[in-house]
Formats: sequence, structure tokens, C-alpha cells
Amino acid sequence: MNMKRTEIGEIGEFGLIDRLSEALKTKQQSTIKGIGDDAAVIDCGSSYMVITTDMLLEGVHFDLGYCPLKHLGFKAIAVNVSDVAAMNAIPKQVTVSIGLSNRFSVEAVQELYQGVEAAASHYNLDVVGGDTTTSRSGLIISVTAIGEVPKNLIAYRSGAKKNDIICVTGDLGAAIVGLQVLERDKQVFLSNPNMQPELQKYEYVVGRQLKPDARMDIIHELRELEVSPSSMIDVSDGLASELMHISRLSDKGVTIYEDKLPIDKQTYDTALEFNLDPITCVLNGGEDYELLFTISQEDFPKLEKHPDIHFIGHVTDADEGKLLVTKSGTTARLKAQGWKHF
Ligand code: ADP
Ligand code: MG
Repeated sequence: MNMKRTEIGEIGEFGLIDRLSEALKTKQQSTIKGIGDDAAVIDCGSSYMVITTDMLLEGVHFDLGYCPLKHLGFKAIAVNVSDVAAMNAIPKQVTVSIGLSNRFSVEAVQELYQGVEAAASHYNLDVVGGDTTTSRSGLIISVTAIGEVPKNLIAYRSGAKKNDIICVTGDLGAAIVGLQVLERDKQVFLSNPNMQPELQKYEYVVGRQLKPDARMDIIHELRELEVSPSSMIDVSDGLASELMHISRLSDKGVTIYEDKLPIDKQTYDTALEFNLDPITCVLNGGEDYELLFTISQEDFPKLEKHPDIHFIGHVTDADEGKLLVTKSGTTARLKAQGWKHF
């Protein structure tokens, strides 16, 4: 027996998942994709079903000192829908499991579920089950989402081709900047939960942290425009980290341009106020829940004028590596240092 003790921090979250999945070879013919993408892919005959799970823990992913329960319920669904979207699929059902301590009243749990219900109607999906247990370490909420996609439209992390254009939706970095504002103002929130300090000044960035919206609008538009991304992932850990996944799994290099990266003005200004480099927030911030995808050059004219899709770079041969061309024209190696919990 191997008695060596390895700390999780030594290999990281992704290293741990890789190690666990080595021993879990798939057996079923209907398992098209197991561990390793935003969702698993199951053959259902005429279409593919995608399945994904994400768990949110109090004290790790959220702080009830400033995260209203209703927003938390919405976010728990939205982050799972975002993984369904990342497969180019449409969400249909979710299950919702909660771990509760006696600190929570029936009314508090109902408030959480008002957010779940709001998200279920926003994304047009059904809550079809779940589990309820006791927790000794704060609130736990775990959601599993199921979605559907025509077989020819499935988008993996691994499909990027040389010369494809790298696209990202919306703007990046706001959620991590919003978190800084909330952390700073935590004491104010704790002493008076109804008080929203300088809400207007930080409204956008705080909203992006507390109420992320999965980009299902983009998935529907891509279908209407008949654009099928060659690869796709959602931005949960940070742009640089997600680019690493696409690059590694597609066995390609990527080059992105600093001056093409989308950042909102309030994000930029607030980052500076907190002595953070705005570009670092964009590259490594995480929790933006935007979509990062690649398209063929041929599809570019169909998206060229889209107001909320940004073209940030292109796919290269693997040996060119992962590069960031800065505003001054110098080239730097892209490093991923997502906000890891280990
Ligand atoms: P995402 O950020 O898109 O939610 P993750 O990085 O959480 O993706 O997970 C990557 C892959 O690893 C997914 O396929 C996920 O299902 C799988 N995975 C994560 N944790 C485990 C686990 N404990 N056991 C098996 N598979 C896991
Ligand atoms: Mg994901």
C-alpha cells in the first residue's frame, strides 16, 4: 500500500480531478463524454443530454453577511445553467440539494427557493427533485442541471482548430472586483443588512458578483445565426484558466490581445481604487459566467457586428504556446492563476 501523503495543494483542484478520473474509465456506450468538460454528455438516441453539478458552500463560495438568500438561490441555478450553455445545450431540468443547520428558519429556506424559482422561470427549466439534509458547517446548496442539444451542435473544450477566432461574451473581471467591494463593506452590511453602501457607485460590479446571469441569450442567438462554435467553455475560474483548458484539450496554442479584452468602465475604475491591476482581474478574476468560444474564420461575418461578442485573439499551433500581446506590443506568456480554494 502506498503510504505517501500528498497535500491537495501540491497537485491543485485540476490535478486532483485528473488523478481521480484515471481510475474511472467509462463502460457504457451511451456515455459520450465523462469527466473533463463543462458537463458530461449522454447519448439519448435522437439528441445528446448534458449533465453538470456545482456545489456552493457557505464561507467558501458565499457569505450570508452580504449575499441575500434569494440571490444565492438564483446564483446556484445560474452557475449550473452556465455549464449547460458551455456545451451549446439548452437546460431543461435541475435538482436542488441543500444542507441546513437549525440556524435557518422555514422562511429563510423559502427565501432561498424564491431565488431558485426566479431562475427556473428565467431559464425556462423545471425543478424536479433534490435532497435535504442537516449540515454542521453552514449552508450547502448543490444543483445538478440537465440539458439537451442536437448531436451536431455539441461544443466541447477540445474542438479548437488552428486559425479559429477566439470570442468572449460580455465583459470580464467585474465579479471579482464586486467581491472586493462586498468584503470591504462587510461590516456595514452586517450591522445593517438593509443598508447598501454607495450602491450606485458599485452597482454593476456588486450585481455581477451577487446575481450572475448565464448567457443562454447567446446560445439562442448562435443557433439563429447558424454559428456552431468549434470549442466552448464558460468563464468560471478566469479567462486565462479557461484558455488553458481549451488549449490543452484541443492541443493548440492561443494568442490573445490585451487591447481586445472587454472590461467595463466601473470595473476598471473600481479595480484601480482597490490597487488591483484591471487586466489581472480580467485574466484571473473568475465568476464572470461569460462564454469563451472559438469559431471558424468562415463564421466570423455572421458575428462580426454582434454588440456583445468580442474577438480577442486566435488559435495557433500548439508549439507557439499561450501568448498575450500587450498594449505596448510586447508578447508575454499567459499564466493561469485562478482563484483556487486549495
Ligand atoms: P466547471 O468549472 O466547468 O464546473 P470543474 O473544473 O468543476 O468544471 O470540473 C471539471 C470536470 O471534472 C467536470 O467534468 C466535472 O464533472 C469533473 N469533476 C469535478 N469534481 C469531480 C469529482 N469529485 N468526481 C468526479 N468528477 C469530478
Ligand atoms: Mg464550466
